[in-house]
Amino acid sequence: MAFDFDMIQRVYDGFGERVEAARQVVGRPLTLSEKILYAHLSAGIPQKAYNRGKDYVDFAPDRVAMQDATAQMALLQFMQAGRPQVAVPSTVHCDHLIQAEVGAVQDLENANNKNREVYDFLSSISDKYGIGFWKPGAGIIHQVVLENYAFPGGLMIGTDSHTPNAGGLGMIAIGVGGADACDVMAGLPWELKMPKLIGVKLTGKLSGWASAKDIILRVAGILTVKGGTGCIVEYFGDGADSLSATGKATICNMGAEIGATTSIFAFDEKMADYLRTTDRADVAEAANAVRQYLRSDDEVYADPATYYDQVIEINLSELEPHVNGPYTPDLAWPLSKFAQAVKENGWPEKLDVGLIGSCTNSSYEDLTRAASVAQQAISKNLKTHSEYTVTPGSELVRYTTERDGLLDTFEKIGGVVLANACGPCIGQWARHIDDPNRKNSIITSFNRNFAKRNDGLANTHAFVASPELVTAMAIAGSLTFNPMTDKLTNEAGEEVMLDEPQGIELPVNGFAVEDAGYQAPAEDGSGVQVVVSPTSDRLQLLESFKAWEGTDLTGLKLLIKAKGKCTTDHISMAGPWLKYRGHLDNISNNMLIGAVNYYNEKTNTVKNQLTGEFGEVPAVQRAYKAAGIGSIVVGDENYGEGSSREHAAMEPRFLAVRAILVKSFARIHETNLKKQGMLALTFADPDDYDDIREDDTIDILGLTEFTPNGQLTIRLNHADGTTQEFQVNHTYNETQIEWFKAGSALNLIKQKQNA
Ligand code: SF4
Repeated sequence: MAFDFDMIQRVYDGFGERVEAARQVVGRPLTLSEKILYAHLSAGIPQKAYNRGKDYVDFAPDRVAMQDATAQMALLQFMQAGRPQVAVPSTVHCDHLIQAEVGAVQDLENANNKNREVYDFLSSISDKYGIGFWKPGAGIIHQVVLENYAFPGGLMIGTDSHTPNAGGLGMIAIGVGGADACDVMAGLPWELKMPKLIGVKLTGKLSGWASAKDIILRVAGILTVKGGTGCIVEYFGDGADSLSATGKATICNMGAEIGATTSIFAFDEKMADYLRTTDRADVAEAANAVRQYLRSDDEVYADPATYYDQVIEINLSELEPHVNGPYTPDLAWPLSKFAQAVKENGWPEKLDVGLIGSCTNSSYEDLTRAASVAQQAISKNLKTHSEYTVTPGSELVRYTTERDGLLDTFEKIGGVVLANACGPCIGQWARHIDDPNRKNSIITSFNRNFAKRNDGLANTHAFVASPELVTAMAIAGSLTFNPMTDKLTNEAGEEVMLDEPQGIELPVNGFAVEDAGYQAPAEDGSGVQVVVSPTSDRLQLLESFKAWEGTDLTGLKLLIKAKGKCTTDHISMAGPWLKYRGHLDNISNNMLIGAVNYYNEKTNTVKNQLTGEFGEVPAVQRAYKAAGIGSIVVGDENYGEGSSREHAAMEPRFLAVRAILVKSFARIHETNLKKQGMLALTFADPDDYDDIREDDTIDILGLTEFTPNGQLTIRLNHADGTTQEFQVNHTYNETQIEWFKAGSALNLIKQKQNA
């Protein structure tokens, strides 16, 4: 079940009838996202309209994609569901576990040695259940999906928050947790709240140093990390049609940074070109045949404010290159203002490392534009002052860019070509730095720049920009360098300027590859053995979580009141912990170790209410669990933003945390908590956050009447004997309440299967 043209044709065959029916029930012209969503209702032909931002809807995705760090837990869960084969085409991509240290060949060999057990598990379980397996070194999930599987009008879920990358080929692609992937692979519907829609109208045309990356960096500045929450961002306008498919993918990829459910562009000639060049002319033709369904209706484009919940307009002809950061991807600086910002904020001006590539920016176009800058360092006799790394997104891109001399150009200016993998983007970077505590700056063409994300070092100031700008700054060795206005002094002492980058959208001689790294599953996998050693510290078979006891939850201890930003990286850190992604007990030792304790402003130091001593968060929670006491975690706004990893939900569940109470949730994390049978609650009045004290014992009341749209009550039992009550909200629907009662969504699947 790898590339499946018949499946795509089936989707297109049913598209027209479903979209026409949707127009009838909705009673107005439709946007592209609405067409795709209504064409993928699990109930078939649309019978009613759904309210955006309100109604939960069951969908039937066409595909599932999983990366190796999240696939382990997704497939351990799938094993529990007891199904013989996956119900929809699914793939596993080995990209997250390869550490960047020396260079591609050696790093890949080291990863194969270090992660052998995990790769063998993923390979054999894929073989057994009919899942396509992309070996280590084959590439990064989103690039490989774009090159092989994404198709206009499709609906895909992926166990990675940058799954929306496939929106560059007109697909609705949404990042989910492993539990959702497990449901869909088991043939169950996939539930999503009907998203709201943000329209981004692009006019004009990019030129000079401005690139597709700068569009999303600008959008991130406008909408901030929360602005896309619960929304699909649809790009349209002449400017949209002028962008390459891979440029569109870069924009959709980074929609995750504004919290968007996904982002999408309408089918156009650029997409058809990309499909043809990646050996899918049949898909391009099939899409062309249903073209009117793969774009919004004309009325929408004529009057976007009527059909979208919010509309933003950006004139590409006036767009400046941007640099965003540090520490958050929505701190957007037009290049002309950036040098001043660096100086005023005291960020280290010296640039230690420039890193290009990753799933966000390693298309042929990206690498040719960056190489055109690198080539000037050679021809203009410039020395490269920063370290410089290049991460190709796939073997297809790597092989082709090597053939066309681009990698050689990067190496000539001192670039190190890393494996086709995530590497420094996800903290898998054995960075060579003289003093790890030194304040320092790096700039990447990646998508995220939370503290410690790339190298685990708190004093690293990470910025994001386009690959060509990263390359220019790496040559200059300075964050304050603006290639549009500033000169550089070359080795002969002459002052020179860098010319504007030149890119080639698609390789003139086509893509080429010797071994793309794909392994097809067995025709009949029933005899394939999946081995998990009971003594493994990397993999652990799962046991079911306990069902709800049927009563209110009382006597819960406050584990931590987290202050400020608490992303999934804070809840379940990546970097060195990635290796435990298949072992729930071991990875639970990183639970919330990055969250800042409101009371002492420290990370990983909380009061153990049983002893009065301070201890590490996981250790204190294990003490509560051993004593048979539940606990509660309190958080701030947009709790759980960032990645889709369900470990951030499973770890507290495994360690007997009973509820997460916050001012607001990031969507994926909230769903993940629900799937694992956890209570995910929000303050009805955010000011109640201030009333929670460090020594509180907390009761959750009203669970016996737990209903959709209802509220629950929190009772704080303060140490001084006083009590306080307030209401909390939730977004559970009927099914999700059943998950809670059964102990998890998976428990409910099993119950139904055995019924
Ligand atoms: Fe890998 Fe980084 Fe892309 Fe995530 S964002 S898939 S870690 S390259």
